[in-house]
Amino acid sequence: MRFHNQIFIALILGAVVGALTSADTRLFGIQLLAIHDTVGSLFVNALKMVVVPLITSALIAAMINMAGGRDLGRLGIKTLTWYFATTTLAVLTALVLFNVMTPGIVDGQPAGERLGLATQTDAVVAGMAERGAGDFAGIILQLFPPNIIQAGAEGQLLGLIVFSILFGMFLRNQQGQAAETLKQVIVGFYDTMVAITLFIVRFAPIGVYALIARTVTQTGYDAIEPLAWFFFTVLIALFIHAFVVLPILIRLLARRSPGRHIQAMTPALLTAFSSASSSATLPLTMECTEQRAGVSNRTTSFVLPLGATVNMDGTALYECAAVLFIAQAYGLDLSLSSQALIVVVAILTSIGVAGIPSASLVAITLILTTVGLPAEAIGLILATDRILDMARTAVNIWGDSVGAVIIGRSEGEEGILDVPVSEMEQRHQMNQRG
Ligand code: ASP
Repeated sequence: MRFHNQIFIALILGAVVGALTSADTRLFGIQLLAIHDTVGSLFVNALKMVVVPLITSALIAAMINMAGGRDLGRLGIKTLTWYFATTTLAVLTALVLFNVMTPGIVDGQPAGERLGLATQTDAVVAGMAERGAGDFAGIILQLFPPNIIQAGAEGQLLGLIVFSILFGMFLRNQQGQAAETLKQVIVGFYDTMVAITLFIVRFAPIGVYALIARTVTQTGYDAIEPLAWFFFTVLIALFIHAFVVLPILIRLLARRSPGRHIQAMTPALLTAFSSASSSATLPLTMECTEQRAGVSNRTTSFVLPLGATVNMDGTALYECAAVLFIAQAYGLDLSLSSQALIVVVAILTSIGVAGIPSASLVAITLILTTVGLPAEAIGLILATDRILDMARTAVNIWGDSVGAVIIGRSEGEEGILDVPVSEMEQRHQMNQRG
């Protein structure tokens, strides 16, 4: 059976098993939820294990192969422009949709009272400080971590990316035996990391099954009901961005089939969906973009690690949506300038949000305070956060991979999505053997 179909079936199976069982269900005396939890965490941990060595060696190797400073500059500008432009489009989609559908107003009344504030709000607000990178200064400071080992340990990818780019750039210009050997060592190291990643990726169907089953058992479908209108409005906005806006851009700018790209990215999209972490999914995103969509290693190694931390279309969209919803639920009429402020802050904070589950809640409290709403109001949306997190994370990595396709094409790469995914994989395997 094709790999993406296996993952898809695993997802459905996970959802069904998760719904049919409860936290008390036991299998041979062992709590089923605990089994799902352990297996799912094992898979996510394995992916996280390769993230730091994989992306640092990929970036350094990509830098070594870059033709020159100009080459890098051009790629950098294109990448950042793409990220900024698409994140803006995503936020505007939320802005328009939430103004039109006003999910925070039910029967002409602000929905705040009906919903009531979730009880665990205080704990959530208190726990948020740990997720870091709330303000702008924090984002800028992350660029140069005082200690790269610590940055790696804490999963602060932005600083590691800057360090790896610098390391690769300077290593490229070094001459002599020692530097040449080091370059070869890093390339060899990178190849090994890719092989390990591919090995872990093969377990994706099992990992996805366990993660989904765990989430469904824990969250259940009941959580959605009181917030159904908000929930569906967010999903519609995410859908428009992912399946209308971005595909149009693939067609127009890359002149390739969006459907084929979706097929190529399915394993990564479903893993992002089930793990709700773009950082953990990064190894898979890189693998699918390179081997199944045919984007060059040079482009994927540069665009995707950066994208996983900096470019979060789904997250930015969600931040804007959540704040507008809360304002509506509180019966607040936001002025045009407040709405513009929300748009700008949503775009900027989405850069600093870490690629881990629920990370955007920090940014949302920041925006709430910026526009003068109480941070505790976040309690209104907690019940649905997990499921919407899954959806927005998938959109986050989808935006990155679409960026890689469009940037790769603009760099003159002909081999992107030019043949069906199965042929592409064969071609890639043959190239590797050759
Ligand atoms: N979970 C998201 C991600 O990893 C971040 C967020 O929006 O909370 O991309």
